[in-house]
Amino acid sequence: MSNISIGIAERLINLFIAASFYQLYYFIYDDYRIFDIPSNAFIWILLILMTDFVWYWYHRLGHEVNFFWAAHIVHHHSEAFNFTTAARITTFQAIIRTGFWCILPFLGFHPSMVITMLLVHGAYSFFTHTQLVGKIKWLEYVFVTPSVHGVHHASDEKYLDKNFGDMFTFWDRLFGTFQSEEEKPKYGLTHPLKSYSFLWQHFHYYFEIFELYKRSKGFKAKFLAVFGSPAHMDQNIRPLLEKRFLQDKSTSNKRLRFRNYLYIQLAICILFLTVFTYSFETLTIADKVFVLSFILITLINCGALLEHRKWIYYLEYARIYIITSYFLYEENLIAFFLVPLLIMFCAEQLFSLGKRYRDVILQLET
Ligand SMILES: [Zn+2]
Ligand SMILES: [Zn+2]
Repeated sequence: MSNISIGIAERLINLFIAASFYQLYYFIYDDYRIFDIPSNAFIWILLILMTDFVWYWYHRLGHEVNFFWAAHIVHHHSEAFNFTTAARITTFQAIIRTGFWCILPFLGFHPSMVITMLLVHGAYSFFTHTQLVGKIKWLEYVFVTPSVHGVHHASDEKYLDKNFGDMFTFWDRLFGTFQSEEEKPKYGLTHPLKSYSFLWQHFHYYFEIFELYKRSKGFKAKFLAVFGSPAHMDQNIRPLLEKRFLQDKSTSNKRLRFRNYLYIQLAICILFLTVFTYSFETLTIADKVFVLSFILITLINCGALLEHRKWIYYLEYARIYIITSYFLYEENLIAFFLVPLLIMFCAEQLFSLGKRYRDVILQLET
């Protein structure tokens, strides 16, 4: 649930910004390219190698520099290793990655080639997130297999900071970071994030960096708080921040029976996202803002459900309010925007909807 929620958000936000990534490649290619690289079979092979080489360093620095790790850590939260883990990519990561990809048009590879290659490269890594395929020893000499990438997702001591390649294993072999699967890996982080909160998963490490930065004395220490190694992150900071930001659980020993409600919400989000993607160009700004805020609030809601948050109920109000505002806007009745708020307030007072919501939808049980 959590993996898919994060994937939906990334796909959704990328719709708004991916075109600017491509514009950036064209801008760099047109004005600053070093070489005029032609397009032929040999160049395509060179490009695939270069793409994976750039990826190797982007990914390795993603693990070795706090500021980059803050974005990439989200990909490693999952303690399950399956196709949904591949969806755990955030927009921050897409932006950082684009910075690295700029090297390709800068060298002189035509942006249309670069974009095509990124699609192939991106699709490949989806298939390496699975345990359905076992170890394929002979393939590992050249290609990253699910077993090789599984090692990258493991928290066992010997598997840490290994296998950064996306398609090929020779960069890892060359730079001494290759590790074949021996014992069954334990997937996830060395210090697992014990939260499914949609927002906390996205932002916790940025908060940790900020806290470390505040505590650090002197320029060098402050610099290292942001650009130093995640291995030196103070592990006392996270529990402290979680105490500060995540202490609003409605219950600790009760279980929520809301599975179907959660599934339905995510199914609606996927449906909305699909239709939205296909019709993106024909929609107005109002449509786009509506769908964006509706899906994002729904995803925050799903995380809050998994986390038993007290304030879920208010998110439901926010969602209803977004829907009514959108229809009022469409009907040129936006002057009446306070009416739904008033109705919701009265309904809450008259029928104690909050209690009914907890009893019927969440079905709290001891
Ligand atoms: Zn990684
Ligand atoms: Zn991965």
